[in-house]
Amino acid sequence: MTTSTPQPPQGAQPAYPAPIAIVGGGFGGLYTALALAEQRQHPPILLIEPREHFLFLPLLYELLSGELRRWEIAPRYDALLAGRGIAWLRDSVVRIDSNSKTLQTATGRELAYSQLVVATGARPHSFGIPGVVDHGLGFRTLADVERLQQLVERLRQQRHPLQRLAIVGAGPSGVELACKLADELAGAAVVELIEQGPTPLAQARAFNREQALLALQRRDVRLRCQCRVLEVGSDQISLQGASGTERLSVQGVVWTAGLDFVAPAIEPPPERDGRGRLAVDSHLRLLGHDDLFALGDIAALPSGEDPEDSPGSQAPPATAQVAFQQATCLATNLMQARRDGALQAFAFQDLGEMLSLGRGEASLVAGGITLAGAAAFQLRRLAYLTRLPGRSHQLRVAAGWLADW
Ligand SMILES: Cc1cc2nc3c(=O)[nH]c(=O)nc-3n(C[C@H](O)[C@H](O)[C@H](O)COP(=O)(O)OP(=O)(O)OC[C@H]3O[C@@H](n4cnc5c(N)ncnc54)[C@H](O)[C@@H]3O)c2cc1C
Repeated sequence: MTTSTPQPPQGAQPAYPAPIAIVGGGFGGLYTALALAEQRQHPPILLIEPREHFLFLPLLYELLSGELRRWEIAPRYDALLAGRGIAWLRDSVVRIDSNSKTLQTATGRELAYSQLVVATGARPHSFGIPGVVDHGLGFRTLADVERLQQLVERLRQQRHPLQRLAIVGAGPSGVELACKLADELAGAAVVELIEQGPTPLAQARAFNREQALLALQRRDVRLRCQCRVLEVGSDQISLQGASGTERLSVQGVVWTAGLDFVAPAIEPPPERDGRGRLAVDSHLRLLGHDDLFALGDIAALPSGEDPEDSPGSQAPPATAQVAFQQATCLATNLMQARRDGALQAFAFQDLGEMLSLGRGEASLVAGGITLAGAAAFQLRRLAYLTRLPGRSHQLRVAAGWLADW
């Protein structure tokens, strides 16, 4: 189902109140819409998202390996939103005018809104390194997963000597992907994991980092730290390491390093942080814009350096866990702002950290528990089951898992 907000004739009173427009249907946007729809007497809700499917990114590795099915982690928006009182417009927002409270979409629609939420997330950052955009593979969309599955299949079939796949960035995505790909390749190609910093998973819990290093070693993943990518070609990658420059022949380069933050143009231009994210106050409201809010990866919370902001706090990381928690807080604040009520300050509650470490394996640190191996894999799946969007989708997925079992 796609829909648009009715536009009143010029000079007439609007027949409907203008909706709360939510721009972007990822973790921040979709979960805000779902939480808003549960509020009593909520105004019309309009979710604007160009993709047909929501994507539960933390389980993308299991889609790659076939351990989970596509419909489980990528439900369609029309199925998710049916009967919930949320209208979905399949389009992209290109411009927001906060003076006239209107937005424009890529297909030329102009729509009025009463409040607006920016939840447009992030995309991989090439850092301007030559060849990354043209030759690098991503790992963020269903199309990326299909391309990687085809590449793995080709490498497994042709079994040429010295086949090599490079993954750039040894943060969580790069490490988790390296383990899964090594398992899927089953020795058909060498997996190189390239990291500019001195260690993989620099921000991770010590237990998870240790488990990840063991998992990489068991799979013969070649970890190159303090190694910078100079250029990516169609069949090679140039590196600068401690011992000088090196050129490796590769069958593919997967780019997981860095995030780029892109929001639609906003008039008047809001304040942004040094990385291009939208500066919000602790209530998730854009600075100087009463009716504009942002959450998820695109939102830069006060760092806590100013005691007036959010005393003692640290800016939370760009994770689904943060976006998910912000969604509940923001749904309340949107309603409170309409009633001139007091807004809640967002306070991130760190619930722990989980890593997928190859077929049937994971590692986790949560609630005082550290666990690795097959039990952690099952616990991670169960934890994410409770985070899938919408009770009926959770039940369908749970029923599928029970039937498999
Ligand atoms: C492979 C992978 C694995 C991850 N694993 C984990 C994990 O295990 N745990 C964890 O906590 N986090 C994980 N993350 C990070 C997490 O997914 C992100 O932090 C989270 O998705 C951020 O939510 P968001 O709503 O800000 O952005 P997104 O979820 O990226 O959603 C943004 C949405 O906005 C839409 N959009 C963009 N521009 C426009 C526009 N102009 N108009 C309309 N719509 C637009 C996009 O199509 C997209 O659907 C992972 C990320 C990746 C890539």
